[in-house]
Amino acid sequence: MSRSGEGHLIVNREVLKWRRMLEKIKSVLLGVAIGDALGVPVEFSDHNEIKKNPVAGMTGYGTYNLPSGTFSDDSSMTFCLAEALAKSSDIDTILKETAKNFIKWMDAAYWTARGSVFDIGRTTLLSISRLKQGGSPELAGGANAEDNGNGSLMRIAPLVFYLLDKPVAERFEITARISAITHGHIRSIIACFYYLEFAKQIIEGKDKREIYRNLQRSVPEYLASISTGPSEIAHFDRLLKQDITEADPASIWSGGYVIQTIEASIWCLMTTGNYNDAVLRAVNLGHDTDTTAAVTGGLAGLLYGMENIPAAYKETIARHDDIVDLAERMYKRFWSNHD
Ligand SMILES: [Mg+2]
Repeated sequence: MSRSGEGHLIVNREVLKWRRMLEKIKSVLLGVAIGDALGVPVEFSDHNEIKKNPVAGMTGYGTYNLPSGTFSDDSSMTFCLAEALAKSSDIDTILKETAKNFIKWMDAAYWTARGSVFDIGRTTLLSISRLKQGGSPELAGGANAEDNGNGSLMRIAPLVFYLLDKPVAERFEITARISAITHGHIRSIIACFYYLEFAKQIIEGKDKREIYRNLQRSVPEYLASISTGPSEIAHFDRLLKQDITEADPASIWSGGYVIQTIEASIWCLMTTGNYNDAVLRAVNLGHDTDTTAAVTGGLAGLLYGMENIPAAYKETIARHDDIVDLAERMYKRFWSNHD
């Protein structure tokens, strides 16, 4: 083959690699929203109650009496962040835009499934109220130990695409700032950091077992390097020191506490082999079903790819075309120069 021919081949491979990135963005946004929507009708169900009648697919009504395919705050806030990422590459602008979008979501039902906000966490509500009074996005979030609900973890997934080519210190710093718009405590920030590091390595093509082991080394190493208190890191022991796949299923809790959500989501991802099984396992844990499944769904979408998300879910999810359009706009912001 001629030299120019080889060059052409390399260019095509590059284009293909970046085109695949668009599919990855879609798989994260839809992965979150579909997991969320699967969980909404049974949110707050007790684990034993749901065990008697497990969720096996997209259902409607239930807890909020809303039609099937309705996603909640988890996805709306994920899309608020994704919109900011699609708009600017400057982190200060992204912070301001995300904060603005959160206010628009709470006040004007921006990026809701069907024109209404029906679910909002306590820490998130207080933080957005502070933002409305003119508070800085960096200081708006609750930063006490009791502010460690899963409210920033549930909306953090799209940030991975912004962090991909950045060094670890920058990845941590940016994650902290985006989490702190609503959740500023170090525990929430570490949970988001762990999650995004997992997502990053999925994009890099690594196997989930390999990623799990890698993070057991790299996450504590980085946290120690920035002098994070060992007692704080110890909250993540089940992920960082033990093998969560061997945990007794009865010990996996799926309430609103960020540690429960990150543990449950990684457990669901690690103990299943496709998108559908992962998100349904999360929903059928009960309690905070929508968030556990949204957090699981972001990683499972990314790991197994768009083609592995059941078509029936994609057809039912509210605002499907708008979500795809948002993914395309994010892609253009990051990678249009590769076309
Ligand atoms: Mg929700």
